[in-house]
Amino acid sequence: MKQVLGLILCMILLGACGSEQTAQPTEEVVKAEETKKDKASESKGDSMKEETESQKHADQQKKEKEELKKTEPMYELSNNWSFQPITSEGNAKVALLTIDDAPDKHGLEMAKTLKSLEAPAIFFVNGHFIDTPEEAAQLKKIHELGFAIGNHTASHSSLPDLTKQEQHEEIVGLNDRIEAIIGERPKFFRAPFGQNTEYSKHLAKEEGMLVMNWTYGYDWDKEYMTEKAIADIMVNTPLLANGANLLMHDREWTANALDDIVSGLREKGFELLNPDLIKTP
Ligand SMILES: [Zn+2]
Repeated sequence: MKQVLGLILCMILLGACGSEQTAQPTEEVVKAEETKKDKASESKGDSMKEETESQKHADQQKKEKEELKKTEPMYELSNNWSFQPITSEGNAKVALLTIDDAPDKHGLEMAKTLKSLEAPAIFFVNGHFIDTPEEAAQLKKIHELGFAIGNHTASHSSLPDLTKQEQHEEIVGLNDRIEAIIGERPKFFRAPFGQNTEYSKHLAKEEGMLVMNWTYGYDWDKEYMTEKAIADIMVNTPLLANGANLLMHDREWTANALDDIVSGLREKGFELLNPDLIKTP
């Protein structure tokens, strides 16, 4: 039993250090817990007690990890939807990549491209893209690749047109569904068309999600629906500034341009902002 406990502790410690791969250690901890439970059930006498202790241990570790994350935000959202450093280590010249209306046809491919470039991003998810087991599996994979998952509502409806109950279903209902798939609730919220309501802002806050629109984006504009055009404007727009919050979508031309967008931003000296460092409510 001590060996198993030691193993779990090792894995948790490794997990705490490897902050870039939070998904994997969690899985390993779960596996280790399962192994432990199997062993515990062999000696029936104190299996209940052991299980409670292991649960306590896991809860404690989870709490510590969450607290560590909470106390270390380095950036905050400003009034114009851009990001600014709040600690001296923060780099002002950052840009955040966000992919909305995911995971549709290109979301997973986009996540793989970004992963190969070591470029962090938030994928803002809609409920109608995670209805089937295949779609849910895509979301899970994107999360497992290390990307933050944001809430973009269940059906992409305009929130001001909805009743409170409908808005609740769109936002909290989707968080429940995302949690069932990836094991955690989103920390970021983006309203469809950027149309927030007082009630949706209240719900997001209650859910611990940071509400964000964006500073610029172009891929829904006909003029920019080619790989070349979108790659150029995303990097060379006059709107690119420190803390920029880039809106992109799960679209073919954007997927094809990602590589050039990431390298273009880096060539201009921008660091891509890791969503884990953003302060959330
Ligand atoms: Zn959208």
